[in-house]
Amino acid sequence: MKTVLITGANKSIGFETARQLLQQGYYVYLGCRDIKKGEQAVNQLKSAGLNEVEPIEIDVDDTRSIKAAGELLAQKTKVLDVLINNAGISGDMPQTALETDINVFRQVFETNFFGVIEVTQTFINLLRQSSAPRIVNVTSGLGSLTLHNDPTWKYYGVKPTSYVSSKAALNAYTIVLANNLQDTPFKVNAVDPGYTATDFNHHSGPGTVPDAAARVVKAATLGADGPTGQFFSDDNAPETGISPW
Ligand code: NAP
Repeated sequence: MKTVLITGANKSIGFETARQLLQQGYYVYLGCRDIKKGEQAVNQLKSAGLNEVEPIEIDVDDTRSIKAAGELLAQKTKVLDVLINNAGISGDMPQTALETDINVFRQVFETNFFGVIEVTQTFINLLRQSSAPRIVNVTSGLGSLTLHNDPTWKYYGVKPTSYVSSKAALNAYTIVLANNLQDTPFKVNAVDPGYTATDFNHHSGPGTVPDAAARVVKAATLGADGPTGQFFSDDNAPETGISPW
């Protein structure tokens, strides 16, 4: 049975990603920063007959929590097949390049960028034990630097600055990581789930959580002939599904 760790999976897109991967026969380590919320989410899945799941406490802002989760998972499994770096925050809104407090930038980068790096570095040894390891970094269409320069883009001028910057940085990390792992069985990709109605945006997004999670699942379950080092975004590129960086 393939194993997957999903950060921030106690609700919204991460939770639905867990549900869809359970339906595909994966064993899910459901990452949560609050173990009570994680247990509630696991109970919800189990009451729907999806039993191959357990909560793992992991706060991606906290080195000690990440390290403890790494040690715990290494006791539970010898192999991690998939890591989904899903946990993310938007920061206070509105955000502007000049007025937004530097501490908002720092906090958003802590979760969306540094957290992903630390989690990836912590779990890489378990991932290396897989014959087909996959890393999915959940980014945003707003992380595309190319499109922020295109006045015809539907999100042109939409600039929650700290969030945009953190996801652009995450994209840069993703492409370099994919490059570093090029001659291995790893597939490392960034996925934009699309503008989706969740707590993240006070349910303002037009997209649905099942559709958003399906995009993440697609990248998590790529076959050996699948791409690596790509930025998948159906919102940014409806025809090809591949966004410019
Ligand atoms: P959400 O409803 O706000 O859920 C975020 C999840 O991340 C929650 O489980 C939350 O835990 C967790 N989280 C936040 N900070 C964390 C930390 N420090 N450590 C561990 N977990 C943490 O957001 P969502 O809409 O599902 O978004 C999921 C991902 O998709 C994010 O990376 C987001 O940037 C990306 N995305 C979302 C949209 C959208 O329109 N929704 C669009 C593009 C990209 P708690 O429950 O404890 O707060």
